[in-house]
Amino acid sequence: MQKNINMGTAVVTGASSGLGALFAERLAERGYNLKLIARRGERLETLATKIRNQFDVEVAFIIADLGSKTDLESVIQNLSNDEEITLLINNAGTSTLNNFINTPSEKQSAMIDVNITALMALSNAVLPGFKNRDKGTLVNIASVLGYFTLPVSSIYSGTKAFVVHFTNGLQQEFKDTNVNVHLVLPASTATEIWEVGGVPISALNPETVMTIENCVDAVMKGLDLKESAIWPSVEDIELYNLYEEARLKLSTATQTGKPATRYATNVAK
Ligand code: NAP
Repeated sequence: MQKNINMGTAVVTGASSGLGALFAERLAERGYNLKLIARRGERLETLATKIRNQFDVEVAFIIADLGSKTDLESVIQNLSNDEEITLLINNAGTSTLNNFINTPSEKQSAMIDVNITALMALSNAVLPGFKNRDKGTLVNIASVLGYFTLPVSSIYSGTKAFVVHFTNGLQQEFKDTNVNVHLVLPASTATEIWEVGGVPISALNPETVMTIENCVDAVMKGLDLKESAIWPSVEDIELYNLYEEARLKLSTATQTGKPATRYATNVAK
């Protein structure tokens, strides 16, 4: 394959399995050099070897626990000093699906640390460089559960809602630049995260579960289409447009400076 030397380096967090591993392959196919990040080094090494054998790209990997302050700091240093980076997919994520009060505190914290803190810190590691060079793509993987909450997903949904709003804010901040910021909202996809979260994939209605290939390829297409919010499984995108319209109307409706009539009290002010 002819290498496109202008693609630069794509960083994929959570590249040791699931969506991240396939994002890495798809990006290599497009000519990106890669920097892969996850805790399971053997898997990263196997993937790196496979990709190097298949595509004419350079593949580096960093074994790091993004939930550890020390590891995160060294990844931040690495990324912020690398001017070759043109794309970051904040894909690493973890989930524990259980009632809040039955979720061990270390699992509660892991979701905040990986899904929120690391995602924010790594965005901050690349965005100043993207801004200076007026070039770069940030892809934040949220979830449909960033919009909907189940009794067992209060923390996971909360973390993904952070990704939704954080990414929306960045999109406004970078709107007049050549820095592209994308929000991705996968629905159930057949990856290891379900086992990690304590809900076997077999517990889901198979008709609602997407394959990794379909999800990643839909996202790649959504990036090509320059969609700011990529909903891989949603056929009728007008539903999202209506949702956004209602959200903005509600926002405008908050700007009255006085209590709504239903909160009127009989006490004269
Ligand atoms: P997955 O196969 O479990 O992959 C998760 C990846 O995140 C793994 O590579 C894992 O690597 C990495 N990761 C987890 N904790 C980490 C930590 N502390 N430090 C570094 N890396 C860590 O699941 P997936 O479905 O592909 O998940 C990818 C993204 O999609 C996640 O953000 C997830 O929330 C989101 N998502 C998934 C679904 C779904 O149904 N699958 C739906 C909506 C959104 P190591 O374990 O090797 O560290």
